[in-house]
Amino acid sequence: MREPLDPLNHFDAQDEADGLEKPLFGLDAETLCRLLAETGEFAYRGRQIAEAMYCQWVSEISEMSALPSALRAKIAAHGWRVGRPAVARTFKSFDGTERYLIDFESAGARGKTAEAVWMPEGDGGDAGDEVESGPDEARAWSRATICVSSQIGCAVNCQFCLTAKLGLLRNLTAGEIAGQVVAVLARQGVRVGRDRVNLVFMGMGEPFLNYDHFMAAVRLLAREVGLSPRRMTVSTSGVVPGILRFASEPLEIRPRLAISLNAPNDAIRSEVMPINRKWPIAEVIEAVKHIPLRPRERITFEYVLLGGVTDRPEQAREVARLVRGAGLPAKVNLIAWNPGPGIAHEMPTPEAVAMFHEALMSAGIAAFIRQPRGRDIFAACGQLKRTVEG
Ligand code: SAH
Ligand code: SF4
Repeated sequence: MREPLDPLNHFDAQDEADGLEKPLFGLDAETLCRLLAETGEFAYRGRQIAEAMYCQWVSEISEMSALPSALRAKIAAHGWRVGRPAVARTFKSFDGTERYLIDFESAGARGKTAEAVWMPEGDGGDAGDEVESGPDEARAWSRATICVSSQIGCAVNCQFCLTAKLGLLRNLTAGEIAGQVVAVLARQGVRVGRDRVNLVFMGMGEPFLNYDHFMAAVRLLAREVGLSPRRMTVSTSGVVPGILRFASEPLEIRPRLAISLNAPNDAIRSEVMPINRKWPIAEVIEAVKHIPLRPRERITFEYVLLGGVTDRPEQAREVARLVRGAGLPAKVNLIAWNPGPGIAHEMPTPEAVAMFHEALMSAGIAAFIRQPRGRDIFAACGQLKRTVEG
């Protein structure tokens, strides 16, 4: 059941999450079948438990209606519980974005909460309305994106990022990562396989520094929950050993990749993202080239525009040369920096963002401006936890 420790992981997150009660959420159907067989039950009961947790989204053993009540009691008596992370607090933006503080109660006091975000993309007609989007309501959205965290805090220390200010508190387990997704799916009444829902691993933390748990979460979400890895994107600050491992993952469970480029050259990138001193841009791009891409798949370069630092037109031309020189099918997502307390940077002006975009486009680079979502609820990475919990 436990995966071998990997040098990419700072420590084994499962140890951190193990309380007296053992969470079932996070175990795949195969493991559950084995577990049930070991306690003298029919192995297929394990599959029923998996279905209850990952398809029916039950959050209590008592709700597993396919199981005889004696078996439910027995499982609970063995110290098991579902243990799915719960939405502790919700913050709604005028633009429909919902930001959640997710509680991992199993984890004890240290590193108890992380953030997840729901970003509906409706027709915009409901902007500003108080819409309760539950399973029984008419949907205000036609597609949506869920953003989840991979760690509580982050060790990478990017200068513009609020999560960095927390330092790394701990890794999240596979169940805690996948559990954020299921908690949001359940809350929004998403019809898996019918609704267009994208998943991005772009919340708190660096997924490739918690590689085993992150990929185990992807496998759970793909194989048990039924989400397509083609609709998942993982973002990395450029952890080269992680990118190389990712390149060898089977296509049917490999999400798409985004690289946080965020600067036009190594000199500036090393300033704003110290990880660049360890793995500079050229090494990151070399590693990305090992990934066997699907037809029409593109690598995304994310570029956070910092006013006066990384948003000048000549820097856009540098980025264009860099991206073209990479020789990869690629696109650039431009994100205006979201301000946060205690970070000495400036937002780019709308004109600077537009000019940067224009310069990339006229250099033949596919570039998109990502609209800031939920600014009024502190939607930038790490902002909610910092502003709510102090
Ligand atoms: N650690 C990973 C994934 C989480 S951060 C990574 O760095 O890629 C997800 C994205 O949010 C990154 O592209 C990061 O550059 C961006 N980001 C961080 N802080 C931000 C802020 N204050 N405003 C806008 N984007 C931010
Ligand atoms: Fe960590 Fe990503 Fe924030 Fe950098 S931008 S500190 S890698 S979460």
